[in-house]
Amino acid sequence: MEKPEESLEKVTDGLGLEISKSQKEQLLWYIHLLLEGLNRQRLVGEKSGAALIEKHLYDSLYPLKMWSFPPGCLLDLGTGAGLPGIPLKICLPKVKLYLVDANRRKINFLRRVAAELALSETYLLPGRAEKWGRDPIYREKFNCLVSRAVARAVILVELALPLVKIGGDLLMYKGKNGLNEIEEARTAIRLCGGQMEKYWHYYLPTGEERTLFLIKKTGPTPEAYPRRIGKPAQKPLGL
Ligand code: SAH
Repeated sequence: MEKPEESLEKVTDGLGLEISKSQKEQLLWYIHLLLEGLNRQRLVGEKSGAALIEKHLYDSLYPLKMWSFPPGCLLDLGTGAGLPGIPLKICLPKVKLYLVDANRRKINFLRRVAAELALSETYLLPGRAEKWGRDPIYREKFNCLVSRAVARAVILVELALPLVKIGGDLLMYKGKNGLNEIEEARTAIRLCGGQMEKYWHYYLPTGEERTLFLIKKTGPTPEAYPRRIGKPAQKPLGL
């Protein structure tokens, strides 16, 4: 089995990423914490450091290969154990990172991660996206929002776009059926003030297929969205 250091080298080379020794150490320490957390609670599916690196780390960092994140505030919606938010923050230390998740256990794990990695300007927002999206402090405040493996695109855009600043970006990490999901979400994207900009199709080192969608927030999200907790999933917009 490959050592975590070697897997990480493979991933950073594959993505053309130039990061410092201390950033590499932070990434490896994060993987270590994920593995340790795994023994006590199921945080992610994979069981070896190499698998975590080649699947979750590669996927999380993929946008850095072909896109420039806007400076300012980055929100990871439904971050779970911190993916993709924590790896992105390690590689983009100047962004202010906000992590939203409804699961208390995961938020507690993230509190530990942020402390152990000594991450600056990293804020935890426990609770549902539907609630944060209606909070005037956070609504339409984020330069960029990322989200991976949280909900179908048609549901996710109603949760995510209200939080994105006008002119800001929404990056949705999707699997191989991403294009079908986007087709289904077409009305929801328009209703929430977004516009599909472009997408990238790629493969993880594990061979899995992925699609990454960039949606621009071009106009305000109407007051009606997001609807109350659970509604976006029960009755997806435009379906
Ligand atoms: N993004 C992570 C976790 C995916 S699991 C990864 O790629 O590994 C989905 C996570 O989204 C769970 O932790 C769940 O608690 C959270 N989630 C789902 N719906 C949510 C909502 N409406 N508001 C906040 N968090 C939500």
